[in-house]
Amino acid sequence: MQHAERILMGPGPSNPYPEVIEAFTRPVMGHLDGDFLELLDDTCDRLRAVFRTQNALTFPVSGTGSAGMEAAFVNLVSGGETVVVGVNGVFGERMCDAAARCGARVVRVDEEWGTPLEPQRILEAHPDPAVIAVVHAETSTGVRNDLAGLGSAKGDALLLADCVTSLGGIDVRLDDWGVDIAFSGTQKCLGVPPGLAPVSVSPRAVERMHCRPQSWYFDMGMIADYVNGAGARAYHHTAPISMIYALHAGLGVVLDEGLEEAHARHQECGDMLQAGLEARGFDLVAPSEARLPQLTSVHVPEARLPPDTGEADIRRVLLERYGIEIGGGLGALAGKCWRIGCMGHTARARNVTLVLAALDEVLA
Ligand SMILES: *Cc1c(COP(=O)(O)O)cnc(C)c1O
Repeated sequence: MQHAERILMGPGPSNPYPEVIEAFTRPVMGHLDGDFLELLDDTCDRLRAVFRTQNALTFPVSGTGSAGMEAAFVNLVSGGETVVVGVNGVFGERMCDAAARCGARVVRVDEEWGTPLEPQRILEAHPDPAVIAVVHAETSTGVRNDLAGLGSAKGDALLLADCVTSLGGIDVRLDDWGVDIAFSGTQKCLGVPPGLAPVSVSPRAVERMHCRPQSWYFDMGMIADYVNGAGARAYHHTAPISMIYALHAGLGVVLDEGLEEAHARHQECGDMLQAGLEARGFDLVAPSEARLPQLTSVHVPEARLPPDTGEADIRRVLLERYGIEIGGGLGALAGKCWRIGCMGHTARARNVTLVLAALDEVLA
C-alpha cells in the first residue's frame, strides 16, 4: 500500500524533520554498544538544553507521552497522598485518572475548558499536597497554563508539569520556574514520530521517589542505572534504538535552529493562522492572553458549512482532496471545534497559507 504524504496539522503527530527520517535508516546497534551509549548520553544532554534544566535525571522514557505521565505519577505518588490537579481540558482529566490509579487523593481544581488555570486557586486548594500537577499546553483547547506562578509558591509540594505539547514550541524553563518533574512527547513540537517520552526530574523529586514503585517497567531508579550509570550500565529493558536516533536528530535540528528561533517560528505561524481564521469571522476557543501558537482551537463555523455537511465531512475532504489533516474536538468540545496544529517541521508559513486556502475552497 502506498502512503501518500500528508501535511499533519492535527493535534499530533506533526511532520517529522527530514533529518529525523534519515536517522531511522541508520543501522541498528546494540543497546549496550559504546557508540550507542554515547549517542544516548548526547540525547540526554540535548534534552537538558530544550527543557532548560541541569537535572541529572533527564532521559527519554520508552513509550509515548502518556508513558511519561504514568512514569511521573507512579514514581512520585503513594497511596493516600494528596495530589492537586488543575483541570481545564482532556489532559488534565487524564492526570486525575493517572494519579487516582496510584492511590492518590485527587483534589481537582476545575476551570472551564478554554479558560486558563488560576495559579492562586490551585495553591489554595489544599494546605499540604504532595504534588501539584498541571498541563502546560492543553492540546484539547489550545490554552497555555502558567507554571512559573505555581513553582514560586508551591512550598513543600512537588510541581509536576505535562510539557507534551509545549516542549520545542514555546518557552519551557524547568529550573527557572521550579518544575520538579516534567514529561513530554516526541511527536508534537520536536518534529519526531511518536514513541518516546522525554522526562526530567529535579534532585528534590529524586529524593522523594519510591524505591519500589508499583510499576516494574517505569521504575525510574532502575532505568537510571541504565541511562545515567557512569561506569557499568545495567540492562533494564532494550532501548528503542531507532527512536533514540530519531529523537537525537530532531533535537539536533531544534538546537541548530536555536531554541528561541524555533519558538519564534511557531509563534509566527500561530499568529498567521489565528489572524487568518479571525479575518474569516471564525471564533477561537482560547483567549488571546493564553493562546498557544502551536495548537489553535477554533469553533466550527456552523453557519458556513455547506448544506448537509457536518464538520467531520470538512475534515475528511481536507484530508482526501488536499492531504491536509486537522483535528476534531475532544471531550466536551467534540463536534464543536477544530484543532489545527503548527508544530515542529509542520510550523511553516506555506502550510498555514495552504490550510486557509483549502478551508476557503471547501467552505465556498
Ligand atoms: C498528546 C498529549 C499527551 C499524550 O501523549 P501520547 O503521546 O498521545 O501518549 C499528553 N498530554 C498532552 C498535553 C498531549 O498533548
